[in-house]
Amino acid sequence: MFLDTSSLIDALPERYDRLRIDAAYVYTADPARPVIADGSVLIADTTILAVGSSAEVDQVERDLEPAPARTRRIDASDRMLLPGLINDHWHEAAALRAYAGLTVQPDDADTSAGLYAHGGDMRAMTVLFNDFAGITAAMPEELAQLSALESLIAQLRSGTTTIADFGSINRPDTIASAALASGARVMVTGYGVDGVCKPGESGFTPTRDAAEVLEQTASVLERHGHHKSGLVRAMPSVLTAMGASDELMVGAHTLAERFDTPLATHIAAAATEAAVSREVFGVRPVERWHRLGLLSPRLVSAHTAFVDDDELGWLLDAGVHITHSPQRYGATGENTITATRQVLRLLGAGASVSLSTDGDPLPLGGMPEAMRMGWLAYNEAAGDPTVMTPMRALSMATLRGAEALRWDDEIGSLTAGKKADLFTVPIDDFRYTGMRRPLQAFLSSGSSGDIDMVVADGRILVEDKALTFLDEHALSAAFLTASTDFARALGAPIP
Ligand SMILES: [Zn+2]
Repeated sequence: MFLDTSSLIDALPERYDRLRIDAAYVYTADPARPVIADGSVLIADTTILAVGSSAEVDQVERDLEPAPARTRRIDASDRMLLPGLINDHWHEAAALRAYAGLTVQPDDADTSAGLYAHGGDMRAMTVLFNDFAGITAAMPEELAQLSALESLIAQLRSGTTTIADFGSINRPDTIASAALASGARVMVTGYGVDGVCKPGESGFTPTRDAAEVLEQTASVLERHGHHKSGLVRAMPSVLTAMGASDELMVGAHTLAERFDTPLATHIAAAATEAAVSREVFGVRPVERWHRLGLLSPRLVSAHTAFVDDDELGWLLDAGVHITHSPQRYGATGENTITATRQVLRLLGAGASVSLSTDGDPLPLGGMPEAMRMGWLAYNEAAGDPTVMTPMRALSMATLRGAEALRWDDEIGSLTAGKKADLFTVPIDDFRYTGMRRPLQAFLSSGSSGDIDMVVADGRILVEDKALTFLDEHALSAAFLTASTDFARALGAPIP
């Protein structure tokens, strides 16, 4: 059994021996042929057999053996079809939903700036991130399961079929189980924190034994590194170097090499990070990774805005992958895009940069919203609409993420031989009238909520805007009850 909450979940829908979808536009994210009008995708079981014009796919079908038993053809001629989105930087934290969501007034005039605003309080952040490990330990398993499922469902409903965890308020085993139950692909991780930079103190204070954290991570990699389902993988993470000893950083890198995985981290997310890093470790954030010899193409670094020219050079030379979460920053008062416009330098220098949502206890926008914000904000910051085209936004939300996760042999584009991960969006209403660029119209005025069908690993998980294996409202109700109980246990003033 995957989950104790399995009373809420039906078995996942069966795959088809042959599934064909015909769409008005097929966006492939494959640079060889990025968009096909009147296109078709032909799928056998888990895998894409052919992508092309309707006539080309007709020909492929004619050359195949006679249709086997389980076949289906879907007429999506009023829709566009896109590859499953890849969210390569995410945190599962929904267990604190009630704590964060129900303890505030509906009138948002009471908003306070918080830890991330005005350059960020880096020292306080290290303490908070360290405390999250204790919250996870105290979390009832039923809530952990409901929370993981609720979070993965939110990703699937927004067209995101692959999600990479950078360190969660949840357990890797539980997130992996929720992936198997929901049909999403995930990359799970251990919680890579072993210390804090306490406010008012100059040094680094260890809070956990680095060897123990590494041992736990190694066991996550052994259990989930190459799961037979094909849906679950694992990687080590260092949440941030500000909360990590040299031993943890070096050990996590060694594990990534041993298990041939990426290595997740956040570097230079906050304007104040460099000053604190210098005080505590004697060097700037990227410099620390560089001196330890840990910058490599395995490293996936989130945000990475506040770096100097030397640091930028080291990142580029080493082929470090950057993941950016543009729709996240405004809500927390992080001026990550415009304070340094570093993302434009990275893009301009040809670095591999992807889009992601990051994570929060409260619902964040999905990958379509990240694409919209990247498209609008990067162009605005550059004063140039050719910097971030809608097609580039799609590629940064799919193929670039697959490359960062070292998963691009199987996912990231609609290409024959890759896994069948895709979604569709209706384009037959007023927003698309007369538009020969429906992707641009979707980024302008569409949203996650428009997505009507999601296929992952050949299974139809969402159809007609509803999950095919789960009553979403029953799940949300059970999740909210468990999250509210937990908020009360943590002392939140919820009646
Ligand atoms: Zn993050």
